[in-house]
Amino acid sequence: MRVKIAVYPGTFDPITLGHLDIIRRGAHLVDKLVVGVTTNPAKEPMFTTAERLAMVQREVKGIPGNLDVVEFDSLLMDFAEAQGASMILRGLRAVADFEYEFQMAGMNQQLNDDIETIFLMADVSLQPIASKLVKEIARFGGSIDKFVTPAVAVDVRKHLNSGS
Ligand code: ADP
Repeated sequence: MRVKIAVYPGTFDPITLGHLDIIRRGAHLVDKLVVGVTTNPAKEPMFTTAERLAMVQREVKGIPGNLDVVEFDSLLMDFAEAQGASMILRGLRAVADFEYEFQMAGMNQQLNDDIETIFLMADVSLQPIASKLVKEIARFGGSIDKFVTPAVAVDVRKHLNSGS
């Protein structure tokens, strides 16, 4: 029987409770879930790729299932193929996500029609969470404890206190 592998790609800058919920749901559906951490220099991430990779590895430890966390800086479809994946997992939040995700799924389909993009929704309470807003709230001294794990909140605060 063919093993069902999915890739969940993202910047995870930082990983939020929304991401973790999607990972938990995704890991449940497939034989193996590969969380792909993109280098994504265009987004000018707060955390380096190595920091994000270590953060995601630490945060997914408690999630049941066969999970792997891998860094990648290639074309997503090439990465997915190299991982032996037949699915790309994405999370959908509000309407705002739809247009970008729709376009990306459509173009990825043209690149490789054998790999299907699957969309999952996080728990309703976690849907509004976005890494970008978490960073903004933290920069202005607000509490991010409802949006990330305690360890990630510490990482973000440490980063801001170090002035980088
Ligand atoms: P990207 O840089 O590709 O947008 P992100 O790290 O922001 O990567 O997010 C990765 C994926 O997780 C995307 O599909 C995004 O829509 C999804 N996602 C992020 N936050 C949430 C959330 N709160 N609920 C559901 N999906 C989410």
